[in-house]
Amino acid sequence: MASYKSRTKRPLLPKASLRDVRGMWGARGERGVCAFLKFLPRHGANMPMDEALHQRFMREAIELSTSNVREGTGGPFAAIIVRENVILARGTNLVTSTNDPTAHAEIVAIREACRTLGSFQLDGCDFYTTCEPCPMCLGAIYWARPKAVYYANTRDDAAGIGFDDRFIYDEFPRSHELRKIPMKQILRDEAFVAFRAWMNKSDKVTY
Ligand SMILES: [Zn+2]
Repeated sequence: MASYKSRTKRPLLPKASLRDVRGMWGARGERGVCAFLKFLPRHGANMPMDEALHQRFMREAIELSTSNVREGTGGPFAAIIVRENVILARGTNLVTSTNDPTAHAEIVAIREACRTLGSFQLDGCDFYTTCEPCPMCLGAIYWARPKAVYYANTRDDAAGIGFDDRFIYDEFPRSHELRKIPMKQILRDEAFVAFRAWMNKSDKVTY
């Protein structure tokens, strides 16, 4: 019930969005032509507006990924989550600076965006990541259910600089006992009690 309650209390425009809108239109909210032109991305006259916006958000993510390297806070990766052309969250890779192996840019951004939205789903959101997601992040993106994902560098580009996730994909088809990290099933019957409780729970919040 708590999750449902928090979802219904979703603010019309989250704080982060207000910040971004103010930044977009100028500190005092005036919709001057200059403020609007400043917001527009660099693009050719014939480029569709959608594509220009996608490039604008990806360029911001790329700048974040570069500054993450310069500041030594983690790997050369960043992600931005956008809804209705407003940035909800920015994430950079923080694995080494936070000792968190899951702190990939996409995960950091998903957590921030969901906090901002007060929701466990990224309905209607566009997801910009500077590199094709690794298996963990791809899984997280599917659970978060954004509208679309845009990426810049490829998995092969990442492999070329020492971030090769192919070994994880190679593990999927292997039988559990033959994986690099062996998996062995124990106590299934005892664990299934929680599954049965879930099935019988009438007021559950499904996701
Ligand atoms: Zn990842």
